[in-house]
Amino acid sequence: MQHTGIATLDQLINLLTRLPGIGRKTAQRLAMFVLKSDPDYAQQLAQAVLNVKSEIHFCKRCFNIAEDDLCSICADPKRDVSKICVVEDIVDIMAIEEAHVYHGLYHVLGGAISPLAGTMPEDLHIRELIERVKSEAVKEILMALNPSTEGEATMIYISRLLKDSGVTLTRLASGVPFGSHLEYLDSATIGRAIDSRREL
Ligand SMILES: [Zn+2]
Repeated sequence: MQHTGIATLDQLINLLTRLPGIGRKTAQRLAMFVLKSDPDYAQQLAQAVLNVKSEIHFCKRCFNIAEDDLCSICADPKRDVSKICVVEDIVDIMAIEEAHVYHGLYHVLGGAISPLAGTMPEDLHIRELIERVKSEAVKEILMALNPSTEGEATMIYISRLLKDSGVTLTRLASGVPFGSHLEYLDSATIGRAIDSRREL
């Protein structure tokens, strides 16, 4: 690992390297860009990073990002409260919303069960989902987990827990390639997978 020898610059490069998808070379390029940019930009960038942490938190109901107790989807009276779409991450909500075919609520698990990566059911918001099924007027749970071994395992785990709950369990239609992530699919593909979802 190369260092610039300037402690403040190295610190910025090291912090940028921790961002997903950012290697050392890219981190150096970004750090140099900040260094050469005008002071206003650096100020705004730093403030925007702080604001994200201080002003945005997670929805109490579905764990989507929210500026208030509830996220904009949970707070929208036009959404169909009889449906909950279960996703791994917040980015999946964004991908599904872009397809404009789903009008129910969501529930963000915060990942998928993966014993290898050390993610166990209790690390995810599964308990909260079961509570919602008991306390809300839910008729359908649409599992929109990533088509992967972990996503499948998580779906099976949740469907066992909800087997006798009386709600209809559905999953995205096949046609979503195995190993792909919802966030990288185009909205037409996601839209079709939701429209032709099938019962578990
Ligand atoms: Zn919410």
